[in-house]
Amino acid sequence: MTKHDLNFALAIAFAVVVIGLGAGFLVGTLTRPAEVAAERPSEQVTFTPDASRGAGGGSATGIPGYGDVYVNDYADLLDPAAETSIRDDLIVLYDQTGIEMTVLTIQSLATYGYTGSLESFATALFNDWGIGNASSNDGVLVLVSEGDRRMRIEIGAGYSVLWNDRMQRVIDEGFLPDFRNEDYQAGILTGVDETIFELTGNYPDEFSTNTLRRGFYRIWHWIEALGAFAWGLLAAPVGAIVFAVRRHLRNRPRACDRCGTVMLRAGEEADDEHLDGGQRLEEYLRSVDYDVWHCPSCAHMLITRHQAWFSGYSACPQCSYRTLSTTAEVLQAATKSSTGRKRLDYDCSNCGYHDSEIRTIPKVSSSSGSGSSRSSFGGGSSSGGGASGSW
Ligand SMILES: [Zn+2]
Ligand SMILES: [Zn+2]
Repeated sequence: MTKHDLNFALAIAFAVVVIGLGAGFLVGTLTRPAEVAAERPSEQVTFTPDASRGAGGGSATGIPGYGDVYVNDYADLLDPAAETSIRDDLIVLYDQTGIEMTVLTIQSLATYGYTGSLESFATALFNDWGIGNASSNDGVLVLVSEGDRRMRIEIGAGYSVLWNDRMQRVIDEGFLPDFRNEDYQAGILTGVDETIFELTGNYPDEFSTNTLRRGFYRIWHWIEALGAFAWGLLAAPVGAIVFAVRRHLRNRPRACDRCGTVMLRAGEEADDEHLDGGQRLEEYLRSVDYDVWHCPSCAHMLITRHQAWFSGYSACPQCSYRTLSTTAEVLQAATKSSTGRKRLDYDCSNCGYHDSEIRTIPKVSSSSGSGSSRSSFGGGSSSGGGASGSW
């Protein structure tokens, strides 16, 4: 493998790292579950009301309606303070991520004359209420049936099948321990927090701060999808090899191309004597590092150039040294209704080159108003995904 090949391989590895970091930040900023709409075949669960229950009570389908888009505690398992706390968490979740999540407790399926499974009931109710955004289908229903001693987290069709296992974990570790002691309120409080954490990487009180953490949490979920074990085993050694190869290439002894004698490397101070003003400035700004090699027998000199991976400087279009800094100033901030403008200034500290340009800042994406005033669901649907548990 020639040095050129290696550099090419390193450039690719570098691009992967940069894209990864960039994606982490972007994903964290966007915060929505970025799973694409599920490719799984929809199971077409249709609600079949029990014909024997007669005409009594409620809507034609027998599905209870909702009085609130966050908490409907029909089994009366929550005291007012707990209900308020859960509602506040779900409002924050909606405001920060657009995810419509709702909690429903019922006395039993039989109350609604339903004889089918909890799963089919949950799917039918999810679709009847239209939980979640209609295009991203990212709604979440937490359904607890006290009398049946069963619960379900039903998720929108936008979540891939991977989310079923995650919701199962939330049920097993968040809800069920307290449910087994018949402490439903504690189980729901813990379980709702854990569900929100699983969905977003944040507990409800942490939303404002952890953009990068959220991004990495979500990327970790993607890596998990690719096979977490394999990736985890590969990442560290690959990083170490890339680093070692790069250092080896830089420090390896090289032969003089005139007489073949092994060259010697000068110290950093000695380097400077052989560099021109622009090169010294690059070293000072740490955008490029130079090594000076000299041949002890024929006095031939070789200067090698090592560009820094991360520096705030780019190549100047006038003098071509990497001494060009870029600063951005927002002239007019973007709003939900109008674009903004920013000015980018380019200044070369070597040759004094200056340029500036005005760029447009895109509109702030509008995820509508605050969730606290929301009164109906967004029309989302579920194709039966989620998890169930009993106690
Ligand atoms: Zn020589
Ligand atoms: Zn310049």
